Amino acid sequence: MQVTEIYKSLQGESTHAGLSCVFVRLTGCNLRCSWCDSEFSFQGGQKMELQEVLIEVARLSPGGGLVEITGGEPMLQEREVIPLMEQLLDADYQVLLETSGERPLARVPKQVVKIVDVKCPHSGEPDTFALENLKALRPHDELKFVLTDRTDYEFARDFILNHGLAERVHAILFSPAFEKTASGSRDTSHCQLDPQDLAQWILADNVPARLSLQIHKLIWDPAAKGV
Ligand code: SF4
Repeated sequence: MQVTEIYKSLQGESTHAGLSCVFVRLTGCNLRCSWCDSEFSFQGGQKMELQEVLIEVARLSPGGGLVEITGGEPMLQEREVIPLMEQLLDADYQVLLETSGERPLARVPKQVVKIVDVKCPHSGEPDTFALENLKALRPHDELKFVLTDRTDYEFARDFILNHGLAERVHAILFSPAFEKTASGSRDTSHCQLDPQDLAQWILADNVPARLSLQIHKLIWDPAAKGV
């Protein structure tokens, strides 16, 4: 499989945020979100055999722990990534899969926690979410909406209500988009949508969503890679 990087850091944006986690970032993405902070993963990387990836994960986190498969869009390499997830599970790792929701997810092993994006109107990639993926959701999965403004918020609010999603997944994450050129200050001034506005909207509408901040951008320089 084509791999951009494998590293250990703190999980930054889900209900697992703050936990030590090994990230396996696969190369390539077929979308171009306006706020993408992983453009460096679109090309390049190195070809690695499945066993080589397993050895590197074991070196960083011997004997188990949390592993996130991310990208890019990891499901573009479905033929390689599904056996990788199966072998990580067999080796007692808890596996997260971060995915755009555009690729089919039905074949993802059921023990894997899927963190599935639904792209909002101002993401630059609206209407790319494959609705049949709603059938692949399991109670431990999470849905994530990255929001730039009120229009994105209303889309996300209505999407979860119209599809009855609050009862179907473990968490629904509403995450303010970060400026992709952000660097320097480790605070929310780089958020395209003020988290305080988002908090007030969620409270006013009683939306069953969790406000999620990308904590790695509040811990390290927002432009830092491999963290
Ligand atoms: S799907 Fe993810 S990796 Fe691809 S462009 Fe969007 S944010 Fe970036």
